[in-house]
Amino acid sequence: MASENTSPTLPDPQADTTVQVVIIGAGPIGIETAVELQRRGIDSINIDRGPLGAQIFDFPPQSRWFSGPERISIGGVPLETVAQEKATREDYLAYLRSVVRQFDLAVRTFESVEEVTPADDGFVVRTRTAGGLLRSIRAQRVILAVGGTATTRRLGVPGEDRAIVSDALGEPHRYFGRRVLVVGGKNSAAESAIRLWRAGAEVTISYRGDELHPRIKYWIRPELASCIRSGLITARFGTRVVAIGPNAVTLERLADGSRFDEPTDDVLLQIGFEADGSLFEALGCELVGPNKAVFHDPGTMETSIPGIHVAGTAVNGTQGRYEVYVENAHIHAKRIAAAMIGDPPPPDPILPELPEA
Ligand SMILES: Cc1cc2nc3c(=O)[nH]c(=O)nc-3n(C[C@H](O)[C@H](O)[C@H](O)COP(=O)(O)OP(=O)(O)OC[C@H]3O[C@@H](n4cnc5c(N)ncnc54)[C@H](O)[C@@H]3O)c2cc1C
Repeated sequence: MASENTSPTLPDPQADTTVQVVIIGAGPIGIETAVELQRRGIDSINIDRGPLGAQIFDFPPQSRWFSGPERISIGGVPLETVAQEKATREDYLAYLRSVVRQFDLAVRTFESVEEVTPADDGFVVRTRTAGGLLRSIRAQRVILAVGGTATTRRLGVPGEDRAIVSDALGEPHRYFGRRVLVVGGKNSAAESAIRLWRAGAEVTISYRGDELHPRIKYWIRPELASCIRSGLITARFGTRVVAIGPNAVTLERLADGSRFDEPTDDVLLQIGFEADGSLFEALGCELVGPNKAVFHDPGTMETSIPGIHVAGTAVNGTQGRYEVYVENAHIHAKRIAAAMIGDPPPPDPILPELPEA
């Protein structure tokens, strides 16, 4: 019988790999970049610390993209949806899997890139698998498609570590019959509030603004406004959370500083994300402004460090308001691939106009 202390480890065939390009991140743009490189005969590997499409994997079940399917499809592979509707989380995860299979891309998941260091002929990328194996990959170039949502924003108030506080909606069913305080006032908060109310929760929103955010999507805002008007959802506009207790949250009115306790069973934070610029910083890439946007040549997506490129939402660091998203980041993949074979940068695509949010 094996002793409790044995630690079985098989030889790791992927302990040392050599490839032309390492792409850090297997989100939509990281995968699209791999497709574009393959089309130009360049071999690459995507390394992701989560599952394929980790950011989308974290969307609440059955939530729909805001963008139409044609705008989030990648590598020229059509994204068909059954009723010509916007794709759900599940549609898109299946789509991502099929793209990876169709192009037979090398994708390693649950493997975190911990360090990228220059080497004589390029870079060494050091990783750690979920099981704790340390690996290294040699590559001529590295593309950081690491996204901009590494961590969710926190309030920094007492009680925020209580088990009743969550930063992801998850499955709305769990909130049936419960009082939920949704903190935030943009798209995610608005959508969560409606879904929670439909799933039988008693929903209150706390938001710093005096009214619903004007950029809430045009098909979500009227519904939420109507729910608030008719008393189905309670809105505490012009408030901020100052403390979270076991069954109540203390809210402060921004107008006069007065405070009151809002009874609640659960608190759902929907106040945005922060990027993790640590790999860029460790490499010495120039970061710009408070958001720590990544300085780069827009024609090649190369950062201030030769051989290190950036793609996707990672370009903009922490985005308060989304300016870079899948829709307008497809071109990054094409530009990087063109640069690697010495082609001129492809021009900006002309995106069809959509109604403003
Ligand atoms: C509810 C919701 C709805 C949205 N709807 C839309 C929409 O309609 N249209 C749109 O364009 N955008 C939308 N977005 C934003 C969209 O998710 C992002 O634009 C998109 O995921 C960005 O793709 P990306 O490939 O640039 O980065 P990401 O998808 O964020 O991928 C980055 C990947 O890098 C990995 N990674 C990070 N650091 C490391 C590391 N050190 N080692 C290994 N892997 C690492 C992450 O695990 C992640 O999988 C929405 C977001 C949310 C939350």
